Amino acid sequence: MTQPVPASRLRLLYRLQQVDTDLARTEERLGALDPGDALRTRVQEAEATLAAAQKDLAARQSRTRDLDLELQSTVAKRKHMEEEMYSGRVRNPKELAAMQEDVAALQRHTRHLEDSILSLMEEGEALQDHGRTLADEAAAARMDLERHVEAYQRELTALGAALEDLRRQRGEVVATVDEDLLRRYDRIRERMGPIAVAAVRKGICEGCHVAIPEGRVRRLAEEEDLLLTCERCGRILVLPE
Ligand SMILES: [Zn+2]
Repeated sequence: MTQPVPASRLRLLYRLQQVDTDLARTEERLGALDPGDALRTRVQEAEATLAAAQKDLAARQSRTRDLDLELQSTVAKRKHMEEEMYSGRVRNPKELAAMQEDVAALQRHTRHLEDSILSLMEEGEALQDHGRTLADEAAAARMDLERHVEAYQRELTALGAALEDLRRQRGEVVATVDEDLLRRYDRIRERMGPIAVAAVRKGICEGCHVAIPEGRVRRLAEEEDLLLTCERCGRILVLPE
């Protein structure tokens, strides 16, 4: 039976760094998730505008009904007065003249009421059209928000699961890493940021992008677990598999 080849301690450290990088990236994406506050505000604004327009329309409709009642009673009053005038019961010319003036005044008031009602009804129609547009806008905004929240929840769940998985992986990897090396890794990361273990590609340190002397690259290739650091940036060097 062949023993599994133990992974080199540098490879394990490099693996830890990959997990840490993924962790940081996932946490960043989680932090950048937009819960939809701007869309929610848009919905609230659209609904408030719609409610104000509906209130305005209702007030005009109620005003129209009031004027309509007033019109009916004015017309009835005028008819009654005309009947009185032509009934022959009133004979006093002064009284008749006064009644005629009253009838003329009631007629003027009737026309005024009819004009007001007409313009209120025209405005009401325009407001109703506008109200329909506002209702459509509010519905569209609500739909946008719902879709966004759905997508947000999906991403939140997915990223949460990814994070949990990465934390578990980190726990497993970290248990395999040499303690001294781990302390070194942490120290370099504190100083240099997320890359503590730099892969050497085409003779270049991926941490500081400076060429590593050929002899050092050769030694890295020959001795897998050799701990070499970049002379310029101090990061631990590994050759990618
Ligand atoms: Zn370097």
